[in-house]
Amino acid sequence: MIELIKEIQKELIEFTQEMIKIPSFTGEEGELANVILNNLEDFGMDNAFIDGIGNVVAVIKGQENGLNILLNGHLDVVPVGNIRNWHPYDPFGGEIDHQGNIHGRGAADLKGGLSVQLYLMKLLKLLQDRGASFKGNLIFSAVVHEEAAEMFGIEYLCKQTFPDKKLSCDLVLLCEPTGLDLVLGQRGKVEIVLKTKGQTAHSSTPQAGINALEKMMPVLDHIFKKMSNSMSKHPLLGKSSVTVTNLVCRPGALSIIPDECEISIDRRYMPGERVEELLEEFELLFEEIKKNDPQFEAIVCVRKLVERSYTGYEKEVQKYHPPWITDEEHPLVQKTLLAVKKIGQHPEIKYWKFGTDGSMTAALMGIPTIGYSGTEERYAHTPDERVNIEMIMQSLEGYFSIISELLELEPDQF
Ligand SMILES: [Zn+2]
Repeated sequence: MIELIKEIQKELIEFTQEMIKIPSFTGEEGELANVILNNLEDFGMDNAFIDGIGNVVAVIKGQENGLNILLNGHLDVVPVGNIRNWHPYDPFGGEIDHQGNIHGRGAADLKGGLSVQLYLMKLLKLLQDRGASFKGNLIFSAVVHEEAAEMFGIEYLCKQTFPDKKLSCDLVLLCEPTGLDLVLGQRGKVEIVLKTKGQTAHSSTPQAGINALEKMMPVLDHIFKKMSNSMSKHPLLGKSSVTVTNLVCRPGALSIIPDECEISIDRRYMPGERVEELLEEFELLFEEIKKNDPQFEAIVCVRKLVERSYTGYEKEVQKYHPPWITDEEHPLVQKTLLAVKKIGQHPEIKYWKFGTDGSMTAALMGIPTIGYSGTEERYAHTPDERVNIEMIMQSLEGYFSIISELLELEPDQF
């Protein structure tokens, strides 16, 4: 078996480089999606297609009924930032250094993981063609719009594509960066919009108006001095957090007292906390402020916006990612852990600091979700983004061991 993995190593590495060379910013994933689909078609999948929103999906069916395992990653990458910080590498060069690292935007998050899941599909198909049998189905999915953190692509996959194509899912394996550890959850994230209201006047006579920025001051004071020091703690996920990431005054022109001030609040939260409760915290604050300032007027809500995918599909989405935890004692987690240990890897159980589409699969759909990949969190979104070839190959072996165990792949036949 190891021989077969070695056979496809060269192809897998070259394809990782090829993926990095195709910029696939959020909303611009079409070219990459088509290249991946072409590969899946060449592999001879039972079914491979791009769905209405632009996600790439493929299925290999086993000879008997069994588990439905969904391999999941995303097509999009974040912007590169200042190009000079990438020196000496080109963010879309896919170059390999002397230590065997592939460099470029998306290498760690998460094209290095996606190519492994893709070539796992090829590996299973090759074995099936050579007479191997397994139970259940292996489903590949590369979704759009993950980095925007609104679950736009994954929601379409779970709520439209799966029912339309009569697919189901018992376990999700997410290839976000884990450094060969197993990740079983993350904190929730919600982007809250808070606006204070005022009244415009000429700024030469400020007392004639109501300055919305001034009205924001007790709110900012409360967030930075009180709220951020009283965040909840979770035994597995660590601490919640709150901070302000942006402030805008309107009309925002010179010589006008602003009649609206808007802040964006980044609030991380824990299982057991609900978004409605987080908003209520601010409503209560407004009541307190009003006691001393009857003129105070403010509103708070989750940021909403209309998103559009590269296929033209549009929908209003809310900026949030609910928290989730997959129980470490879940039988599928234990089997996965054993499968990886069996080939000599020593994964730790960890939890992500950042947000992932596990919020849809685990928190909202209730499907056990496990993160596993050979890429590393410390390089994600940085100008030093890279993935180590040795770790990519170890993760392919890990993935192969996991699906062999869960889909009961018959080893005698290859
Ligand atoms: Zn990612």
